[in-house]
Amino acid sequence: MNTKANFSYHKLPYRYINSFVDGKWGEGELSEDERIILNESACVLHYCQVVFEGLKAFKTIDGRIVCFRPDMNKKRLESSCKQMNMPIFPKEKFLAAVEQVVKANKEYIPSFEEGGSLYIRPIMYGTTPTMGVKSAKEFEIRFFAVSVGNYFDANKTARLRVSDVDRAAPKGTGNIKAGLNYAMSLSNITDAHNKGFNENLYLDPKERKYVEETGGANIFFIKDNKVIFPYSESILPSITKMSTMYIAKEILHLEIEERKVTFQEIENFDECALCGTASTITPVGLIDDHGHQIIFSNDVIGPITSLLLKTLKDIQHGIIPAPKGWLYEIK
Ligand SMILES: *Cc1c(COP(=O)(O)O)cnc(C)c1O
Repeated sequence: MNTKANFSYHKLPYRYINSFVDGKWGEGELSEDERIILNESACVLHYCQVVFEGLKAFKTIDGRIVCFRPDMNKKRLESSCKQMNMPIFPKEKFLAAVEQVVKANKEYIPSFEEGGSLYIRPIMYGTTPTMGVKSAKEFEIRFFAVSVGNYFDANKTARLRVSDVDRAAPKGTGNIKAGLNYAMSLSNITDAHNKGFNENLYLDPKERKYVEETGGANIFFIKDNKVIFPYSESILPSITKMSTMYIAKEILHLEIEERKVTFQEIENFDECALCGTASTITPVGLIDDHGHQIIFSNDVIGPITSLLLKTLKDIQHGIIPAPKGWLYEIK
């Protein structure tokens, strides 16, 4: 597998499907059919009643298969579902679904040497035909998988630009993984790509004064060996971010802060990086604010970012011991 950006859909043999009908989930089963058959009036198509998750399975250095913190994805899916009037998918079913999909597509998990992973995408959507704006009563959940490498080109630092539009409202849905948060960003990301940027950096939607996150990843900064994570109620609570905070504080014994970060102050920061399951930890080279460029590095990863990334990867691949409960082994 090459080390360039490599995060795209391709059909793997098996996915797990379960339906919520008459107020309860069924047994669930593996299927070889990647297509979904929906009524033309299905709630998800018109009113975007869809939430999703993303997690990875890795091959460890000694050949085991492990999932990284799937219980956290299960918890976040639950909070997404609550906010979107969707049914809770029970924890045991969630873990069993992950396990079944990983096992069934086992031969597509990149080896330790290749450095990739199997990305598992759980997705739940409202299937009930609706005309008026109201919630579906029937839902489907699918867990499919793809083999992936890097989300961004591994040999480059990311280039961000400050967005002119908002991804979330102050009391909206920015804190959950709901499809609607991404629908609004599609023309914006297309425009960013056309102009040579990897991602949009969103500022807080109320004052446009504080840094929030990018379209698909959280952001953090380093200043004098201190790791600074922006706080906001409208950013997606990233599991990679929580893990990075823990690694910085408990394993590397660095000082950390989680607080509101003004856009103005980032000019003084030493390093900047994105974090998320897909992007892992990706160094940010520059942030462009309408032609004014804040430059963190020129295609080299900063020393603290590098240390955080190495520690995270070493945990995920069983090279150093994982904090309790972080690796869910699939036998
Ligand atoms: C998924 C996602 C993240 C990263 O969350 P992880 O749990 O680390 O994968 C960050 N921001 C947004 C907007 C996301 O959709």
